[in-house]
Amino acid sequence: MNFELTSEQRMIRDLAREFTEKEILPVAARFDREDKFPHEIHRKALELGLLHLTVPTAYGGGGLGVFELALVTEQLAWGCCGIGGAIGLNTVAADALTVAGTEAQKQKYLTRLTRGEFGCYAATEPGAGSDVAGLQTRAERRGDKYVINGTKIWISNATVSNFAVVFAKTDPAAGHRGLTTFLVDFDLPGVAVGKKLEKLGQRASPAAELNLVDVEVPATQILGEEGGGFLVAMKVFDRSRPMIAASAVGLIQRCLDESLLYATERKTMGRPILEHQAIGHKIADMAIRLEAARLLTYQAAWLLDAGQRNTTQAAYAKAFAADSATWAASEAVQVFGGMGYSTEFPVEKLYRDAKVLQIYEGTSEIQRNIIVRELSTAKGR
Ligand SMILES: Cc1cc2nc3c(=O)[nH]c(=O)nc-3n(C[C@H](O)[C@H](O)[C@H](O)COP(=O)(O)OP(=O)(O)OC[C@H]3O[C@@H](n4cnc5c(N)ncnc54)[C@H](O)[C@@H]3O)c2cc1C
Repeated sequence: MNFELTSEQRMIRDLAREFTEKEILPVAARFDREDKFPHEIHRKALELGLLHLTVPTAYGGGGLGVFELALVTEQLAWGCCGIGGAIGLNTVAADALTVAGTEAQKQKYLTRLTRGEFGCYAATEPGAGSDVAGLQTRAERRGDKYVINGTKIWISNATVSNFAVVFAKTDPAAGHRGLTTFLVDFDLPGVAVGKKLEKLGQRASPAAELNLVDVEVPATQILGEEGGGFLVAMKVFDRSRPMIAASAVGLIQRCLDESLLYATERKTMGRPILEHQAIGHKIADMAIRLEAARLLTYQAAWLLDAGQRNTTQAAYAKAFAADSATWAASEAVQVFGGMGYSTEFPVEKLYRDAKVLQIYEGTSEIQRNIIVRELSTAKGR
């Protein structure tokens, strides 16, 4: 075993930290308040090589692993989960291309992403989120084309995207085997992005509806195989869940840093509140959960990069890190007392930003379902 980062890993982590302190930290509260997309920050991060880390260099990416992606994601999220999400979310569309794309698709779409375009990932619908097999968007084959009809909801970055990875049913009677993934360009007739959805936190990262009405795409736009969409989604989750867990780790670290500083300075009954055991222990518990969440995240990412199956570990990491982030943010507000409830201090934003970590890329309940399924399958072997 070796828990040391390599010098290259330390370098990229430190670069991300420096970037976050300079470009994200000073503006995070304003972007949240104004509900603004961070285009300029995206451009700078792109130029610096902090984005598309897992895309092969042949398509303009960093050619690195999910582990390095986790290191960078953690730092960006320490500054702001919303901005980190907004500028980093292309990774999920890129993941779908990585696990299922043909050479021509990768050449075309990954290159567009690394040149600065945005791509979104459109699975969720008003009637089905956790229930991926229950999606209703329909893709009907007509000759060598497919006609797609349906409505997607909560699609992150849809408002700034140039294309989407869309999940649609090609055979509604076949359950999860009837699901197919398509690459859909936004300049096609029938594609319409709805209004930005108003939300609790991570407000610099927009989410919107995506409506598809008689959208015609050639069969060459299928990502993977017809009927292979469910498998694409599951493979993407193995890559994206460690990334979301890393976001949660960054947020927990920020809760700890802010709480420690405040508890050292704020005095009650003649001493810093850190010296009151009830507050000191909250901070100790934050540090314990932070360390455990980080190790689980690194393990899930490392397994994937080592070519091993990481489904269970990705679920451990996502569930534990997201649940711990929500818990830590609530405790951080408590450490700050009344000031924790004020928009003048960063912890109220951490509290709002944390919650969705337990919801997207599979809820905390779904992660536990996966863990039970994987444990019981392993036991039966
Ligand atoms: C800010 C934001 C950004 C998002 N970005 C994207 C995106 O870019 N692309 C995309 O496709 N989706 C995106 N989503 C959607 C997200 O992935 C879904 O909201 C999530 O998967 C949950 O689905 P749902 O909302 O339909 O809830 P439901 O599936 O209806 O679940 C409701 C509740 O029931 C629980 N539940 C459901 N089924 C089970 C079960 N079998 N066992 C136990 N509990 C269960 C859930 O855990 C949850 O607590 C985003 C959501 C948000 C809020």
